[in-house]
Amino acid sequence: MVRKGKSRMILLDHIARTAAEDGCRTAAVSGSESITYSELWERSGRIASWLESMLGDDKRPLVVYGHKDPDMLVYFLACVRSGRAYCPVDVSVPVKRVSDIIEKSECPIIFSADGSGIIGELHDRAVVGKTEAEAICRDMETCIPADRAVSGDDTFYIIFTSGSTGLPKGVKISADNLENFLAWSSCLGDSEEEKEGGVFLNQAPFSFDLSVMDLYTSLYCGGTLFMTDKKTQQDMAALMEALQDSGLKYWVSTPSFAALCCSEPDFSIEKMPDIKMFFFCGETLTNSVAGRLRDRFPETKIINAYGPTETTVAVTAVEITDWMIKSKNALPVGTPGKNTRIEIRDGDGVSLPDDRHGEITILGGNVSTGYFRDKHQSQKVFFGDGVRGYRTGDEGFIKNGQLNFCGRMDLQIKYHGYRIELGDIENNLIQIPGIKAAAVLPKLRNGSIKNLVGFVTGMGCPDDSFAEGSRIRAGLREKLPDYMVPRKIIFLEDMPITDNGKIDRKALGRMIG
Ligand code: AMP
Repeated sequence: MVRKGKSRMILLDHIARTAAEDGCRTAAVSGSESITYSELWERSGRIASWLESMLGDDKRPLVVYGHKDPDMLVYFLACVRSGRAYCPVDVSVPVKRVSDIIEKSECPIIFSADGSGIIGELHDRAVVGKTEAEAICRDMETCIPADRAVSGDDTFYIIFTSGSTGLPKGVKISADNLENFLAWSSCLGDSEEEKEGGVFLNQAPFSFDLSVMDLYTSLYCGGTLFMTDKKTQQDMAALMEALQDSGLKYWVSTPSFAALCCSEPDFSIEKMPDIKMFFFCGETLTNSVAGRLRDRFPETKIINAYGPTETTVAVTAVEITDWMIKSKNALPVGTPGKNTRIEIRDGDGVSLPDDRHGEITILGGNVSTGYFRDKHQSQKVFFGDGVRGYRTGDEGFIKNGQLNFCGRMDLQIKYHGYRIELGDIENNLIQIPGIKAAAVLPKLRNGSIKNLVGFVTGMGCPDDSFAEGSRIRAGLREKLPDYMVPRKIIFLEDMPITDNGKIDRKALGRMIG
């Protein structure tokens, strides 16, 4: 029986239908590993039944740890089919950060698709790895009722993003948020029917919400998820070879990743003849990258989408035309998706007319129910009970119906597609013994971030500043992902301060040119 007032997720119905009607269809492939729809449905059902028998009314979210392994999908679906949210954590996340996430989520069980054993050493929580999962699938029957699954405003997943306090904050995305997004994404560029059976690129790690676009749009439309792991992504020749044999139709990545691929001559329509659409989100798509793609893939649709994790992947999108590329103007990020409204607001929250710059504010069905166990942070940026809203901190304007993105209004940056709060790095720097004050700045070249530079006080000017800088960087690396560790540390006697007592970031900027 379906719970009163809540409808069953269309996503789960679609996966169940594909499993029943065409169970042998491949749901996901990663290197030599793959999983069919019937295996995915059957195994997730068995593990969901086991979760129900083990945890009963305990509905705390569960951490799923690993990388590009088809088992990750089994664990995600097992959680949500048993009525629990999952929290995806990629193996690239440093151990200390994983530990913070586990602490914060209070998850009673961790699923691990990673063979390193690291996760078992972190906490005294039960860990379900490959062996345990196989035993459960062998011994358990699927007896989980369909109405046990998450639905309505139940949380479907929690993704932790960089938080300005130095601790990651968990964005809760509900079943309704995801359904609202999928009703739109499944028709973006191509119809849902055209997408059926198509191969979707999964480049982003599952702890980055861009992956939700390929993972769930693919499962919703009966497609195949083609996962590329970190190792392959670092070896361009291997990546090109894998892509050529993949039958890839729908490309999903950050523009940075596509730009990287453009350095390979084999990245072309001749070698990837099935490709129909590029979907970009997460950072600025430049004319230059769009132009290079157009040269190599003359007929392929290029979609530029915009949105933060807090509003379920993306809320606006536009197909980039040749005319837009040739105009050399900054590319727009598009018009709102289903049940979504975009307003540009001034500092007092008043909605501004077209052409005026202000804060991009997102309202509608994609807006998250809030940060996990963080009312304080939630109240700062989320508002509204009926129609929910989110203040993005992004600056933008609307022209001819199209949203245009103009950058951040705070200290959040995007570096290689990763979202970083500079305050997160700074707060971790001042925890290193000897450091009194810290500031981190992006070093720019031709308007793009080249690397990050850290400024610290409290240590004077060390005799061997290179060795001292390496020690600080090593300390940070224990807590932060590599991409957040500044390339260079500059030692200062005092921080430059503005008249109103803030760190003078402009003065620091001048020091690095
Ligand atoms: P994340 O939560 O990691 O997806 O990061 C969200 C932020 O990325 C947004 O608030 C924007 O600052 C930036 N962003 C997302 N999409 C775009 C886009 N198409 N163009 C420029 N910046 C973007």
